[in-house]
Amino acid sequence: MKIICIGRNYADHVSELNNERPSEPVVFMKPDTAVLPKQFPFVIPEFSSDVHHEVEILVKINKVGKYIDPKFAHKYYDEIGLGIDFTARDLQTQLKEKGLPWEKAKAFDGSAVIGDFLSKKRFNSLENLNFELRNNAQVVQKGNTGMMLWKIDELVAYVSQFFTLKTGDVIFTGTPAGVAKVNPDDVLEGYIENEQVFKIQVK
Ligand code: ZN
Repeated sequence: MKIICIGRNYADHVSELNNERPSEPVVFMKPDTAVLPKQFPFVIPEFSSDVHHEVEILVKINKVGKYIDPKFAHKYYDEIGLGIDFTARDLQTQLKEKGLPWEKAKAFDGSAVIGDFLSKKRFNSLENLNFELRNNAQVVQKGNTGMMLWKIDELVAYVSQFFTLKTGDVIFTGTPAGVAKVNPDDVLEGYIENEQVFKIQVK
Protein backbone atom coordinates (compact mmCIF):
# COMPACT_ATOMS: atom_id res chain seq x y z
CA MET A 1 0.00 0.00 0.00
CA LYS A 2 1.02 3.58 -0.33
CA ILE A 3 0.23 6.66 1.67
CA ILE A 4 -0.59 9.88 -0.12
CA CYS A 5 -0.58 13.01 2.01
CA ILE A 6 -2.09 16.43 1.41
CA GLY A 7 -0.41 19.51 2.85
CA ARG A 8 -1.94 22.91 3.53
CA ASN A 9 -5.59 21.87 3.31
CA TYR A 10 -6.85 24.02 6.20
CA ALA A 11 -6.47 27.80 6.04
CA ASP A 12 -5.82 28.15 9.80
CA HIS A 13 -2.84 25.75 9.60
CA VAL A 14 -1.47 27.41 6.46
CA SER A 15 -1.26 30.70 8.35
CA GLU A 16 0.21 29.25 11.57
CA LEU A 17 3.27 28.07 9.57
CA ASN A 18 3.37 31.28 7.48
CA ASN A 19 2.91 29.24 4.32
CA GLU A 20 1.39 30.51 1.11
CA ARG A 21 -2.17 29.41 0.48
CA PRO A 22 -1.79 26.96 -2.43
CA SER A 23 -3.72 27.18 -5.70
CA GLU A 24 -3.62 23.38 -6.02
CA PRO A 25 -3.33 20.71 -3.31
CA VAL A 26 0.21 20.13 -1.97
CA VAL A 27 0.95 16.40 -2.28
CA PHE A 28 3.67 14.20 -0.82
CA MET A 29 3.97 10.51 0.01
CA LYS A 30 5.08 8.15 2.72
CA PRO A 31 6.24 4.57 2.10
CA ASP A 32 4.53 1.60 3.79
CA THR A 33 7.46 1.44 6.24
CA ALA A 34 6.24 4.75 7.70
CA VAL A 35 3.20 3.06 9.25
CA LEU A 36 3.48 2.82 13.03
CA PRO A 37 2.48 -0.76 13.89
CA LYS A 38 -0.68 -1.01 16.02
CA GLN A 39 0.02 -0.96 19.79
CA PHE A 40 3.59 0.31 19.24
CA PRO A 41 4.77 3.50 20.93
CA PHE A 42 6.02 6.34 18.77
CA VAL A 43 9.75 6.76 19.39
CA ILE A 44 11.04 10.26 18.68
CA PRO A 45 13.83 9.82 16.11
CA GLU A 46 17.33 10.93 17.02
CA PHE A 47 17.70 13.17 13.98
CA SER A 48 15.07 15.64 15.19
CA SER A 49 14.50 17.70 18.30
CA ASP A 50 11.18 19.11 17.12
CA VAL A 51 8.75 16.42 15.98
CA HIS A 52 5.21 17.77 15.60
CA HIS A 53 1.88 15.98 15.66
CA GLU A 54 -0.47 16.68 12.74
CA VAL A 55 -3.86 15.02 13.21
CA GLU A 56 -5.62 14.26 9.94
CA ILE A 57 -8.74 12.60 8.57
CA LEU A 58 -7.85 9.49 6.55
CA VAL A 59 -9.53 7.91 3.55
CA LYS A 60 -9.01 4.21 2.78
CA ILE A 61 -9.22 3.38 -0.93
CA ASN A 62 -11.33 0.30 -1.75
CA LYS A 63 -10.59 -0.30 -5.46
CA VAL A 64 -8.24 0.55 -8.28
CA GLY A 65 -8.77 3.97 -9.82
CA LYS A 66 -7.07 6.37 -12.21
CA TYR A 67 -8.35 9.73 -13.50
CA ILE A 68 -11.34 9.44 -11.18
CA ASP A 69 -14.13 11.92 -11.85
CA PRO A 70 -14.92 13.94 -8.69
CA LYS A 71 -18.59 12.94 -9.15
CA PHE A 72 -17.68 9.26 -8.75
CA ALA A 73 -14.89 9.64 -6.18
CA HIS A 74 -17.21 8.55 -3.33
CA LYS A 75 -17.34 5.05 -4.88
CA TYR A 76 -13.63 4.57 -4.23
CA TYR A 77 -13.82 4.53 -0.43
CA ASP A 78 -16.13 3.09 2.23
CA GLU A 79 -14.19 3.99 5.34
CA ILE A 80 -12.90 7.11 7.04
CA GLY A 81 -10.25 7.18 9.73
CA LEU A 82 -7.99 9.45 11.70
CA GLY A 83 -4.23 9.44 11.98
CA ILE A 84 -1.13 11.45 12.70
CA ASP A 85 1.34 12.72 10.14
CA PHE A 86 4.38 13.04 12.42
CA THR A 87 6.69 15.71 11.05
CA ALA A 88 10.28 16.51 11.98
CA ARG A 89 9.62 20.26 11.75
CA ASP A 90 13.25 21.32 12.25
CA LEU A 91 14.39 19.12 9.38
CA GLN A 92 11.43 20.07 7.20
CA THR A 93 12.19 23.76 7.67
CA GLN A 94 15.81 23.23 6.56
CA LEU A 95 14.72 21.21 3.52
CA LYS A 96 12.06 23.76 2.56
CA GLU A 97 14.58 26.60 2.75
CA LYS A 98 16.86 24.74 0.35
CA GLY A 99 14.00 23.76 -1.94
CA LEU A 100 14.68 20.07 -1.28
CA PRO A 101 12.15 17.22 -0.98
CA TRP A 102 10.53 16.72 2.44
CA GLU A 103 10.72 12.92 2.69
CA LYS A 104 13.33 12.71 5.44
CA ALA A 105 11.17 14.98 7.61
CA LYS A 106 7.82 13.40 6.74
CA ALA A 107 8.24 9.78 5.66
CA PHE A 108 10.52 8.25 8.29
CA ASP A 109 9.71 4.98 10.09
CA GLY A 110 6.73 5.34 12.42
CA SER A 111 5.72 8.74 11.03
CA ALA A 112 2.26 7.56 9.95
CA VAL A 113 -0.22 6.70 12.67
CA ILE A 114 -3.29 5.02 11.17
CA GLY A 115 -6.17 4.66 13.61
CA ASP A 116 -9.27 2.47 13.38
CA PHE A 117 -11.42 3.02 10.32
CA LEU A 118 -15.16 3.70 10.56
CA SER A 119 -17.77 3.05 7.92
CA LYS A 120 -18.68 6.31 6.18
CA LYS A 121 -22.33 5.19 6.31
CA ARG A 122 -22.31 6.09 9.99
CA PHE A 123 -22.12 9.78 9.18
CA ASN A 124 -24.77 11.99 7.63
CA SER A 125 -22.19 14.11 5.87
CA LEU A 126 -18.45 13.74 5.46
CA GLU A 127 -18.31 17.50 4.97
CA ASN A 128 -19.22 18.17 8.58
CA LEU A 129 -17.16 15.74 10.65
CA ASN A 130 -15.61 16.86 13.91
CA PHE A 131 -12.30 15.40 14.97
CA GLU A 132 -9.72 16.17 17.61
CA LEU A 133 -6.39 15.21 19.07
CA ARG A 134 -5.79 15.14 22.81
CA ASN A 135 -2.32 15.18 24.30
CA ASN A 136 -2.24 14.06 27.95
CA ALA A 137 -6.02 14.52 28.03
CA GLN A 138 -5.88 18.15 26.83
CA VAL A 139 -7.41 18.99 23.45
CA VAL A 140 -4.53 20.25 21.27
CA GLN A 141 -6.02 20.09 17.76
CA LYS A 142 -9.65 20.40 16.80
CA GLY A 143 -10.95 20.27 13.25
CA ASN A 144 -14.03 19.93 11.12
CA THR A 145 -13.91 18.58 7.57
CA GLY A 146 -16.08 21.54 6.52
CA MET A 147 -12.95 23.69 6.90
CA MET A 148 -10.99 21.78 4.24
CA LEU A 149 -9.86 23.87 1.26
CA TRP A 150 -10.33 20.74 -0.90
CA LYS A 151 -13.00 18.22 0.06
CA ILE A 152 -12.37 14.48 0.28
CA ASP A 153 -13.89 13.71 -3.14
CA GLU A 154 -11.87 16.48 -4.79
CA LEU A 155 -8.68 15.11 -3.22
CA VAL A 156 -9.36 11.53 -4.34
CA ALA A 157 -9.97 12.77 -7.89
CA TYR A 158 -6.96 15.08 -7.84
CA VAL A 159 -4.35 12.60 -6.63
CA SER A 160 -5.65 9.89 -9.01
CA GLN A 161 -4.48 12.02 -11.93
CA PHE A 162 -0.90 11.40 -10.84
CA PHE A 163 -0.97 8.08 -8.97
CA THR A 164 -3.10 5.03 -9.70
CA LEU A 165 -5.03 4.39 -6.50
CA LYS A 166 -5.09 0.80 -5.31
CA THR A 167 -7.08 -1.11 -2.71
CA GLY A 168 -5.70 -0.38 0.75
CA ASP A 169 -4.01 2.90 -0.13
CA VAL A 170 -4.57 5.62 2.45
CA ILE A 171 -4.92 9.35 1.86
CA PHE A 172 -4.00 11.75 4.69
CA THR A 173 -6.14 14.83 4.04
CA GLY A 174 -4.17 17.55 5.84
CA THR A 175 -4.10 19.00 9.33
CA PRO A 176 -5.96 21.88 11.00
CA ALA A 177 -4.18 24.40 13.25
CA GLY A 178 -2.60 23.48 16.57
CA VAL A 179 0.38 21.41 15.44
CA ALA A 180 2.98 21.24 18.21
CA LYS A 181 6.01 19.39 19.49
CA VAL A 182 5.64 15.96 21.08
CA ASN A 183 7.70 14.93 24.11
CA PRO A 184 8.56 11.61 25.77
CA ASP A 185 5.66 10.31 27.91
CA ASP A 186 3.01 12.18 25.93
CA VAL A 187 -0.16 10.17 25.32
CA LEU A 188 -1.90 11.10 22.08
CA GLU A 189 -5.54 10.17 21.57
CA GLY A 190 -7.54 10.72 18.39
CA TYR A 191 -11.30 11.13 18.23
CA ILE A 192 -13.81 11.31 15.41
CA GLU A 193 -17.13 12.67 16.71
CA ASN A 194 -16.23 11.65 20.29
CA GLU A 195 -15.24 8.10 19.36
CA GLN A 196 -11.66 7.19 20.16
CA VAL A 197 -9.87 5.71 17.13
CA PHE A 198 -6.27 5.66 18.35
CA LYS A 199 -4.17 6.05 21.48
CA ILE A 200 -0.39 6.38 21.14
CA GLN A 201 2.34 6.56 23.72
CA VAL A 202 5.37 8.74 22.86
CA LYS A 203 8.85 7.60 23.88
ZN1 ZN B 1 0.19 16.68 7.40
